[in-house]
Amino acid sequence: MADVRNPFVIAQKQLDEAAQLLRLDPAVHELLRWPMREFHVRIPVRMDDGSVRVFEGFRVQYNNARGPTKGGIRFHPEETFDTVRALAAWMTWKTAVVDLPLGGGKGGVVCNPKEMSQGELERLSRGYIRAIAHYIGPDIDVPAPDVYTNPQVMAWMLDEYEKIVGRSAPGVITGKPLPLGGSAGRGDATARGGIYAIREAAKVLGLDLSGATCAIQGYGNAGQFAHKLAVEILGLKVVAVSDSKGGIYSAQGLDWSTLVKHKRETGAVKGFPGAEDISNEELLELDVTVLIPAALENQITEENADRIKAKILAELANGPTTPEADVILHQRGVYVIPDFLCNAGGVTVSYFEQVQNAYGYYWDEETVHERLDRKMTTAFHAVHEAAQKHKVHNRLGAYLVAVSRVAEAMRLRGWV
Ligand code: NAD
Repeated sequence: MADVRNPFVIAQKQLDEAAQLLRLDPAVHELLRWPMREFHVRIPVRMDDGSVRVFEGFRVQYNNARGPTKGGIRFHPEETFDTVRALAAWMTWKTAVVDLPLGGGKGGVVCNPKEMSQGELERLSRGYIRAIAHYIGPDIDVPAPDVYTNPQVMAWMLDEYEKIVGRSAPGVITGKPLPLGGSAGRGDATARGGIYAIREAAKVLGLDLSGATCAIQGYGNAGQFAHKLAVEILGLKVVAVSDSKGGIYSAQGLDWSTLVKHKRETGAVKGFPGAEDISNEELLELDVTVLIPAALENQITEENADRIKAKILAELANGPTTPEADVILHQRGVYVIPDFLCNAGGVTVSYFEQVQNAYGYYWDEETVHERLDRKMTTAFHAVHEAAQKHKVHNRLGAYLVAVSRVAEAMRLRGWV
């Protein structure tokens, strides 16, 4: 736990700062520093070559004072218990900041899906659910997709869960394919929510975004849709994007549909015709109006924070900025839209999905977009106002809003 880059140490540090400002009751603070419940499981999976491999999995139910815990499942070779704990803590603040009747949770499996066949992935997904099935449910803990998991993985997980409980239970998991009870508008919800937040940030900063430049780190679900919607909704010119194999830059702007096709065909953004290759480090330091980290944790640190030139840093990824970098960015006037606000669109539409599953009636895409916009816009201004009022950076502003809501629920329940 000594590692300053350990995301859970960072999550606890961020909470400590908010607790001090809020003069949080010591018992409330202590309870919020750690997950209320966590599972550490081993999943045996029959591989295609006939051997059995044992995978390590986690599920963390961080806090359920405001409702069932909710959070994605990541399949990643470098997954750790502490990463999952940090992400579960951030889910707790995220559901609170957008005022959903949910708590926070997260799951993860240490594996490399890029090296596994579809059959192996399916058996792993089902094995993970068998390991935790008795501890999840629509009114207990509701998983969803995250890094390297997708609607197909959710479909296998739902099917396995329903086999175990012997009834239909679509609300146990969100991010499902549409024919299995998914919600319209879930695919691009995380990016869309972030784009609405960027729109509001530009309003409070008096910035005109039309024709302004944007760079995006990470070109998966969040990054690709951010590219599309940044152009469509905000009129931004996306000049640089990257993925785990490197980045590309074009001063003219990158065309979304041809780039997505190139990435699908070649497996990388690099080598895109008409663009020059750049490194991930160079991408972060470009002179752009909006920078969107949409990949992994700890990308903006005390080492590069003073070289970030963007006016708005919109954190679609979880934990891309370290606490030391936060202070530097704030001093330099970079307007940060903190992760658990910026990427709350995904869980918001996941919550809409649960609501639709519960009453078995489905909304059209327009309704989802309109309700998402209202949630994100309200949350954005609550955070902006809290930060202005207390003269703190936006992340701390977001903590002030979220932690006080969770603390109030705990107090009303008589826990503290
Ligand atoms: P994804 O697996 O679809 O995409 C991840 C992308 O990041 C890939 O393009 C990968 O190549 C890239 N990447 C990995 N390492 C990189 C590196 N070192 N430099 C640059 N790029 C790198 O995942 P996603 O769903 O798009 O999630 C991305 C981030 O957004 C994560 O932090 C995730 O927790 C967060 N997030 C996602 C959702 C969602 O609904 N998808 C919701 C909330 C938060």
